[in-house]
Amino acid sequence: MHEILVVEDEPGVVDALRYALKAEGFTVTAVATLAAARTRLTLARPRLVVLDAGLPDGSGFDLLRELRQGGGVPVVMLTARAAEVDRVVGLELGADDYVAKPFSPRELVARIKAVLRRCSPTLTPAPSGPVEVDAAAFRARFFGQPLDLTRYEFRLLVELAAVPGRVFSRAELLDRVWEDPGAVNDRTVDTHVKTLRAKLRAIRPEPEAIETVRGEGYRLRELW
Ligand code: CA
Repeated sequence: MHEILVVEDEPGVVDALRYALKAEGFTVTAVATLAAARTRLTLARPRLVVLDAGLPDGSGFDLLRELRQGGGVPVVMLTARAAEVDRVVGLELGADDYVAKPFSPRELVARIKAVLRRCSPTLTPAPSGPVEVDAAAFRARFFGQPLDLTRYEFRLLVELAAVPGRVFSRAELLDRVWEDPGAVNDRTVDTHVKTLRAKLRAIRPEPEAIETVRGEGYRLRELW
């Protein structure tokens, strides 16, 4: 898996990056908004995210903050100018590196490779462990065995498996999984987690695949 997710709204920059990264053997997925990036990140975990600070629907720093809460994915920030404040904020929020525009694609690729070299030991554990989900095909497996899930159990598992180890609050899960969060409540999440757990336990009784973090929410076990 060598996917680089490029979150950038300037087509010229995206084209230059795509060309330079492909030449180095990376697969490039490009999105132009925060919303599209969030959607993409629920479906696949890239090796690294190149993240523009200024996007049409908000600040790249917001997504950076979310990614850092979720753990592992390395991030290289792009900022519109060599503003010291952007650099400091980006690094404080946990960006792995930072490049100010205008930049040469060659320099950015070199920085990406350096970040990946630094990060690779911590990336070695399987991204999703024994849980495999194929959102497009509506298929899920646990330790290689197919799971027979309801629509919401499946969507819940897809969300949790997108970032193993990351804690999702009930409110967040409601918002991301249910089309009409107003029509349901926190107990709805608990109920579906309970039935989903029962199906996972039927395959492997322990350790618990979906962990409860008291007062916070749920997370998919990261280390097995
Ligand atoms: Ca921009």
